[in-house]
Order: sequence, then structure tokens, then C-alpha cells
Amino acid sequence: RRAYMGQSSRFEQWQKENKSASLGKRTDLSIAQQRETLPVYSMRSKLVEGVRNNKFLVIVGETGSGKTTQITQYLAEEGLADKGLIGCTQPRRVAAVSVAKRVSEEVGCRVGDEVGYTIRFEDVTSAKTKIKYMTDGMLLREAINDPYMRRYSVIMLDEAHERTIATDVLFALLKVAAQKRDDLKVIVTSATLDANKFSTFFDSCPIMQIPGRTFPVEIYYSAEPEMDYVAACLDSIISIHLEQPAGDILVFLTGKEEIDTCCETLLERMQVFYDQGDTPELLVLPIYSSLPSEMQTKIFEPTPAGKRKVILATNIAETSLTIDGIYYVVDPGFVKINAYDPKLGMDSLIVSPISKAQANQRAGRAGRTGPGKCYRLYTKSAYEKEMNPNTIPEIQRQNLSHTILMLKAMGINDLLNFDFMDPPPVNSMVTALEELYTLTALDADGYLTQLGRKMADFPMEPALAKTLIASFDFGCSEEVLSIVAMLSVPDVFYSPKDKRELADRMKAKFNDPTGDHITLLNVYERWIDNNQSKIWCQEHFIHDKSLRRAKEVRGQLLKIMSKHKHSLSSCGGNIDLVRKTFCSGFFKNSAKKSSEESLFKTIIENTPVHIHPSSALFKKTHAEYVMFHTLVLTAKEYMRYVTKIEPKWLVELAPTFFQVANPQELSARKKAIKIQPLFNKFDEQQTWRISKRRG
Ligand code: ADP
Ligand code: MG
Repeated sequence: RRAYMGQSSRFEQWQKENKSASLGKRTDLSIAQQRETLPVYSMRSKLVEGVRNNKFLVIVGETGSGKTTQITQYLAEEGLADKGLIGCTQPRRVAAVSVAKRVSEEVGCRVGDEVGYTIRFEDVTSAKTKIKYMTDGMLLREAINDPYMRRYSVIMLDEAHERTIATDVLFALLKVAAQKRDDLKVIVTSATLDANKFSTFFDSCPIMQIPGRTFPVEIYYSAEPEMDYVAACLDSIISIHLEQPAGDILVFLTGKEEIDTCCETLLERMQVFYDQGDTPELLVLPIYSSLPSEMQTKIFEPTPAGKRKVILATNIAETSLTIDGIYYVVDPGFVKINAYDPKLGMDSLIVSPISKAQANQRAGRAGRTGPGKCYRLYTKSAYEKEMNPNTIPEIQRQNLSHTILMLKAMGINDLLNFDFMDPPPVNSMVTALEELYTLTALDADGYLTQLGRKMADFPMEPALAKTLIASFDFGCSEEVLSIVAMLSVPDVFYSPKDKRELADRMKAKFNDPTGDHITLLNVYERWIDNNQSKIWCQEHFIHDKSLRRAKEVRGQLLKIMSKHKHSLSSCGGNIDLVRKTFCSGFFKNSAKKSSEESLFKTIIENTPVHIHPSSALFKKTHAEYVMFHTLVLTAKEYMRYVTKIEPKWLVELAPTFFQVANPQELSARKKAIKIQPLFNKFDEQQTWRISKRRG
């Protein structure tokens, strides 16, 4: 520590010598001047002409060059928004919102006026809107009712290098739309140089390159593989702060929990230095998508003189958000991705190594304001020999059921001949078709059923959409709506370190013996009973923001449901109906208790799973059978939001998926129904029939 202390004065020395140096954003410039300093500005007229003269255009430019915030404005300023909207898609919600806010500021309007955004369950646009930022998933949804995108004059598929499923599907849909409509322009932007592929796909359209303006970044590797990358990260941050000249630090971590714990530990460790005096302050700022938006904007505020900022970010800071003034990047080399896990037979969030392309993007974040440094917490040989050159497109690794349901609703049945830039593996298409079939969204020939068409109207995974619709038949739509809304917002409970016991006791008050779904309902209903009081939330260690958000989501879902002309009804305390309703959507997520204490095994794949410690059933369950909402993988595979079920419900609600095991094999004493999944039901032939008869 003493060595560190000695070093820290170097920082101040550097600060003194560089008082006039502008670190980060030039705050002395007006917004108009700031806009003119961006690299994209030098290309303004070329870009506008390029869009005017071409149906399709690919634009490549470094992160931070001004693609997202400027190009839409240039086009609007030149009158391209007069006959229709300028739409710009983002793979991430946070980016859509943050960019819309920034552009509104630049334009000088309120968000939702000339510049607005649409993300799931939140539409901040109006009749005045000319520039609309949105998630790619929301634009894909619009294609169900408006396949040729008639509301738009220009659509910019931004961050195309991320290769999300929605962007990939939009490639194909927009290609057709622009061929049908002479007045639609499609722009594809990418931060990586691998743009030829995009151009080839769009009839060999022109590629425009925005001149880069980057500084060299020195790369440092770990000498040995790191056993604990979080610990290595913390050490790196502290030693950069104490030993290196001024400049902010950007750290890439994998998710909210990891970031929150790192922030806490970092603050604790820094306190030791502050107590000894003479250490400049390190501002610790998290950024991830579920962070409240007022906290998110903090990362863009210029760092006060004499201090240093460290931003602990998820992958969102890789290319979607540009933060000025970063001189140091710490890159552990991991990212959390949603991937289909064949071992589980379902999607699961997993931490996986990044690609070389991603590693280079991350390093590049350090060289935007001046020469920077990137600390890779992996070995040079891991980078060279173990990392994939490029990120695998989502469409090749994720569950496709939601996407296929939307395509079917658009009337696209011939999936095998759909114009995918990189087609998904056939077996993942088949898995998705099977899933939709077992949910009765598709019939045995692979065509959309009435139920399936209704399900496609809901912006959520098919199982959840089915649950909502089923709630009308079961007469418990009031309750199910509240629970689904609660499942769609970040966890409502918090538990401060110093009051953990009290928080746990408060939380236990809501616990229902049947499990977490009804527990969530209890929370929501008690909150309504207590007039949605903030103080009540504080007393119960509940984020009132999350609950208010849940109420908004509930309202949005209600709007979609009223389209289907069902009237709401309550089961009036007969909560078995609610559990049954969820079972009709989530029967695949069922597990049976094993002989070992607290261990369950999924019925489909026999994978060992555990009840999450936050569950109302944790250490309290005597349930034989449970269903769960999702799985999270940390040290073990945990079931999140778990509820007891009756095994006979599985057979009753998903007869194409489960059957009662052959009674001859059961001893007469055993009255309990044995359940087994019906894999042979979907034999090769039938699968083939489904995939063949599309079209
Ligand atoms: P690109 O899309 O090419 O990565 P952007 O258009 O997102 O670039 O950003 C251009 C510049 O606008 C950034 O370098 C940054 O200075 C500024 N900027 C972008 N978003 C914000 C924001 N939310 N707050 C403040 N400045 C921002
Ligand atoms: Mg951008």
C-alpha cells in the first residue's frame, strides 16, 4: 500500500502539468460546435447523397464517430423525413433511450416530440415525431401489421455487426420491402470493417467509410490465466488509479450482480486509501440495462478536475454507448449471452469468452480521446489461439420460437427458403417449431393456429404469451396479468448489506406456500391496497420504481388483450387456477424432486436444478413437482420463480408433450402419477412433414 501511496502523487503531478489539457468532452463547445467536431460531419453531404441515390447503403465507422446520433439528423434536416419517419434500430433498449435523449437535446426538443423512442412496453413518440429510435425487436414487431414499413421513409439498421436475431430477420424483411417500395431507403451501419457481407446481401450496394480518428492503444496481457477475473479486475482498477496519469477507466463485466458487487468492494477498498489521505477520488459508476435511467445518464457527465471516473459496464459499452474521456480499458474477456443450452433443452444465460473482434472493439474504447491502454486479463496466447475471430450471430445459437412465431404471423411459412444472411441450423428451427406445436401455436402441419396468431401480438416469449391468453379460459386474467407484469420488470426486492435480516423478514411476509408466482401477486396486490405508497415500499425493502413499472407494463398488456375482446375476470382467491394457467405455458420448465435433499431434476432432460435462495420455497418445500420461470446459472443451475404443481396438470395441459408412464411398469402401491416426456411423438417423419409443408 505504501508503494501505491507514493505513486499516487504522480497522478496529481500529471494533473497539474496538464491543467489545460482537455480530457474527455470539450464542455466549452456549444452543441452545434460539438456536432461539427464529429468525424461523420466531414461526410455529411456525401452521406445524404448516398442515401438519396441508393436503395441500400452500408456505412462503416468507428464507435463514437457520430453514426447513430448524426446521420438521422442530417437526413431529417435535408427533408428526408417529410414523407415518412426516419427510423433507427438499436440492439439494446438502453442505447435506444439514451441516444433518443441525446438527439432530442441536440435538436432542442422534448423526447417524444420530433425525436422519440419505442422500446418494449414504452412508446415515447407522437404525431410530431420525425426521428424514431427503437429496439430492433420493436421494428420487427411492426412488420407483423405493416410488412412494407409504410410509415417509414428511411430505416437505419444500426449496430448491424452485433448480429442480433431481430436485426438479421429485418435484413431479409427490409430487402423485400425496399424492393416493393421505391420510396424506402435502408441504411445498415456497422462499427467493424466486415461490411462486405452486408453489401453483398443488399444487392452489392455501396459502402461508405467514415474516416477514423483514433489514437494508438497499448495492449497488455496477463502473464498467466487469471483464476478469478473479478479479483484481477479490482486489482487492475486500483493500480491504474494509483499509478497511471489522469484519464477515466472503462471495465467490461458480465452482468448486474457482478457489477454491483464490484462497485461495493471497490468503494470499500478505496476508503482505506482515502482514510490515509492524499489519494484522488475515484468515482465509481455502474452501467447496465436494468439500471434506472437517471443513474445511466451519470456516466456521460464530465469528470470533475482532480478526480477519476471508473465505469463498470456490461457489453453495452462495447459499441452501443460512447463515453468520452476513456484512457484505460480493463477487459476480462467475458460476456453474458443468452444461448440455447442443449443440456437443459432451453435457453439459459451463460458467461462465455468474447471473440477477437469484440476484444479489439473493447480495446478501441481507450483510444478515442488520446493514446490509451488496454489491460486484457487473459494471456496473449488465449487471445491468439482460443478466441473465435468473430462473434457467432445470435440466430445461430439462440432459441428461435419467438422469432418463428412472428414470421408465421407475417404469413411467412417457407422458413427453409427464407432469405437469411446466415441461416440458423435446421435443428434449431425444428426445436422452435416443436415448441410452438406443443404450445398449440402451430398445428401439426406447421401452420399458425388462432391461438398462435393471438400469441404473436404479445412482445414476449411464447410461453408467457400463451399463459396470458389461457388465463381467460381459466377465469383468472386479473391475477395472471399482475404476475406476468411483475415477471417482466427487474426484481422488486432489495436487501441492503447492513439490514439484510430485516429485509428478509419483510420479504417473507409476502411468501405464499405454493411458491413465487403467487408471492409476486401478493406483493403487487398489497402495494395497490396500500395506495401504491412509497413509504410502504421503503418499509418493505421494495423498489417502488419497479412496481410502478410493473403497473405500466400491466396497462400495456391490458391494451393488447382488449384487442382480443376478452373481458377480465378474477378467480377470487382460487389460486390453484393461477398455478394451472402458468403450467399451461411453462410445462416444459417442470422439475421433479430427486432423492437428494433440495435437489430437483428437470422432467425433460433430467438436468439437476436447485431452488434459488430468493425463492419462497427455498428450504421449505415438500413439493414433488415444481415449475419455474427461468434458470440462472451461477455456481449451480438455479430455478428462478418456482411454484408447486400437480403432475396431472402436465398431462392435462400438454397432452402432446407428456403422457402418463406405462401403468404396467408402476407398482400398484404407487398411486402417484408418473410423468414422462413424449419424445418419440415427434419422430423424424413428422418433423419433416412440418418443415416440408410450410409454404
Ligand atoms: P456512433 O454511433 O458512431 O458510435 P454516436 O452518434 O453514438 O456515435 O456518438 C457520437 C458522439 O456523441 C459521442 O462521441 C459522444 O461525444 C456524443 N454522445 C453520444 N451519446 C451521448 C449522450 N447520451 N450524452 C452525451 N454525449 C453523447
Ligand atoms: Mg452508434
